[in-house]
This record gives sequence, structure tokens and C-alpha cells, in this order.
Amino acid sequence: MINHTVAQLMHGLSEKQFSSEELTRAFLDRIEALNGSLNSFITVDPDSAINAARKADEQRASGTARALTGVPVAHKDIFCTAGMKTSCGSRMLDNFVPPYDATLIQRFHEQGCVLLGKTNMDEFAMGSSNENSFYGPALNPWNTQCVPGGSSGGSAAAVAAGMAPAATGTDTGGSIRQPAAFCGITGLKPTYGRVSRLGMVAFASSLDQAGPMARTAEDCALLLNVMAGHDPGDSTSATESVPDYTAALEGSLEGLRIGLPSQYFGSGLDAQTGQCIEEALKVLEQRGAILKEVSLPHSDLTIPTYYIVAPAEASTNLSRFDGVRYGYRCENPVDLHDLYTRTREEGFGDEVKRRILVGTYALSAGYYDAYYRKAQQARRLIRQDFLDCFENVDIIAGPTTPGPAFALGAKSDDPVSMYLEDVYTLAVNLAGLPGMSVPAGLVDGKPVGLQLIGQHFGESTLLNVAHQFQLATDWHLQQPQLNLGEIS
Ligand code: GLN
Repeated sequence: MINHTVAQLMHGLSEKQFSSEELTRAFLDRIEALNGSLNSFITVDPDSAINAARKADEQRASGTARALTGVPVAHKDIFCTAGMKTSCGSRMLDNFVPPYDATLIQRFHEQGCVLLGKTNMDEFAMGSSNENSFYGPALNPWNTQCVPGGSSGGSAAAVAAGMAPAATGTDTGGSIRQPAAFCGITGLKPTYGRVSRLGMVAFASSLDQAGPMARTAEDCALLLNVMAGHDPGDSTSATESVPDYTAALEGSLEGLRIGLPSQYFGSGLDAQTGQCIEEALKVLEQRGAILKEVSLPHSDLTIPTYYIVAPAEASTNLSRFDGVRYGYRCENPVDLHDLYTRTREEGFGDEVKRRILVGTYALSAGYYDAYYRKAQQARRLIRQDFLDCFENVDIIAGPTTPGPAFALGAKSDDPVSMYLEDVYTLAVNLAGLPGMSVPAGLVDGKPVGLQLIGQHFGESTLLNVAHQFQLATDWHLQQPQLNLGEIS
């Protein structure tokens, strides 16, 4: 059961091949066996998972089940879960038990899904390797010397290692797509506003977006059906109607125009990874797609723009962690100033502090125009590049990352080389577009991902392209050979 897709589990549950309780126990056993080594989960509550599974089985028995009732799902520890710790990977929230569920969590509950646990992540979703977690790094199941990617590294590793059939993640600059690529799974970052952000701990509010991570595009479609939709509690959530994302998976690729940005195939791309992407594109071409070279002329501005906008928003969002309202509080503060400074000094890790410093500087009165306003102008140009491309092509494709997963520690002392990991993913967030990563090959035994970028609210097209690709390839079916002796 642990190797099944969500679609297969859904079928097995409705055909009564197994109960949700049996299924949930199988995943909990797998978590028990592997989590000590892989560190994918921060919190697991087996009793509440079993209770939820029993309730799902009752719903199945009484005919009140919905499509995914009884399917276990893991959630990134950035989503508030009533009664269950939500740490966001930070010491600051290590003691935080939310009084309410995020809208996304509520939607999964209403669907009757079983919450398997909360997954490891970079602190406040800042990172590309999961090494910035207060709870220690999660490891990549394909090669435990390597990172699983970040910031949704725990979710990606959990799915890749069969500890969960599917998981949620969030993507501010690549945090669903990059770990999906590194762990050989499928991940979708929806259009900004497609999924509610209510109850999702804020990093950079104009960029953050939640999305599904699973083995297949079909599973991502099933999960997005649960997640997507307007939320009156989130003023930035989109009011556009939500299609049935699985209904779109039947379409042919005949005549579909795929744009290949010249900037995404340049010198920064690892040669073998580039080879995998070329092969993947040939597969799409064989299925009728037309490949066209396109240009995103402002690509060079992406990293500097993101690393002004995201830290600026982070510095304001994280001002709420002051030791007064909730979360960590330092011991015996002598006065209010001491309370603020020591709480933040002790509660935040290095990368978070770095972002707060950069963001506060960029927003300060004397530098606002030089940095923040400039970055907003550059953001506009980056977005316009995509809109111009979409005059001539239906989707854009390229690599998700410059190469496969790197070794633990290889980049952790060099923030800029870490930031370069996101060179192909950041622009999608700056432009508010949907993006996917689809398994597209192995380099040195490690997965690499094909990135597909769609038009605003074009998730159905992306999912269909990914699905057609997965009908023709088996990269998404490959699984890491976990040598339990070696990693325990
Ligand atoms: N790696 C990027 C960063 O560190 C993106 C993170 C994310 O998407 N949450 O900001």
C-alpha cells in the first residue's frame, strides 16, 4: 500500500480492498521505521491519525464518504493545526499549538483525509536545503548524504520514501518545485491566490502559495481539487471558479506550443541535467507539442529582485514574534527591550536573522526608493516577460534546478550559492504564475525535474502536460532503494 498513488488508494478504499485504518497504520509503521534516520517529520500523533482513519471508515460504511475520504496526507509544519504543534521549523514556534486550523487543513478534514503528521522544513520556509530547520536537516531518501531540497524538504522526502502518499508544501520562490525535483516526485505551485493562505505562517505574503506534492500529476490534480478555491478569510485568495483538475487530464498535446527560454538553458545548467531535460522535451514533442525558443530578457534581475522583495516582506511579517503574543519568550527579561531583543536573538536562526536584517535595511526610509521600489519595478518587468511569451506559446518549460541534489553542508556556509539554486523557480513567484516540477531523469542516481510554467490559472493545462508526460515515461514510478541498515 505504501507504494500506491493517491488515485490507487482512493480506488482501493472505495472497493474495500483495505480500510483507512489499515492504510494509516501502514504509513505510520513506515514513518516509525524511517523517520529516525530521514527526519522528514517534526510531529506525528499516531492516536489522532488512527482516530481520524476510523472516522473515515465509518463515513465509507455509511455512504457519506467523499472522493479522498480515508486517504492519509502529511502537511508541511507551516500550516496551523488546531491542537497540534505548528513550529514552522523554528525554535520561535517550538511551543506553539494553534487554536485553529488553516483553511487548507480544514478543507482536508472536510474531505475526510487523515492527517499523518507535520513535515520538516527550513525555518519560516527560508532555504533550499532543509538545513535551516531548528529540528535538524531532513535527508534525501535517494542519497542520504544529500539534501532533499527546501524549504518543503520534509514533505518531499516523506512522499519519496513512502512515508506518505502525498503531502502539502508551500512555495515562495521554489520550495515545492525544488524539493520535488530533488526527491523525484511531482509538485505543483499554483497561481498566486488559488489556494488560501489563512492559517499558513507568512513568509513573503505577495509570493507565498501552497500546493500539492505527490508521486504523479494525477495525484496533484486530486489534491488541488481539495485545496483550491476562494476563502473569504483571505483577501488575496482568488474568486475565479475552480475547474475539476482531474477532468483536464484527458487532453492531447497536439499543437500545444511550449516555449523554451534561452536563459534557462545557459551556462549555469549542469550538462547531464540539461540532457535529461532535452530528452523530456523530445517526449513531449513526440506527443504532438511544438517546441519554440523564447526569451525572458530580465531573467538576470530575478535573484536580486526576489532577495529584496522576499526579505522585505519577511521582516514585516516576522515582527509579530516578539515574546509577547505567542511563541518563544526568553527567560527573565529585565525590561521590554530586553524581552524583544533576547527573544528574537534566541528564537530565530541565522538565515532568518539575515533576511530580517536585509529586509529592514531595504525598507528603511533612506533606502526604500533605492531598493524596495526598484525591486517592485523590476518585478513588473519580470512578469511582463512571461506575459509577452504567452502571446506566442501556451506553456514554458525548462529545468527546475541547475543540477541534482547537493551534499549536506556543501552550500550552507555560502548563502549566495544557496540562493542560486532557485534561479529557475523564483521568477514564477514574482510573476504569480503556476509552476510544476515533474520527475525527468536521474543524474548520478539522483532525480532531476522538468519545470513546466503556465499562464495565470492555467493549472489544468500544466497538469495535463505533466500527466501526458507521465503516461509516456516512468521516472515518476522510480523509487529510492533505501538501505535501512546503512542509514539507521
Ligand atoms: N529558497 C528560497 C528562499 O530561501 C525559496 C523558499 C520558498 O519558496 N519558501 O527564500
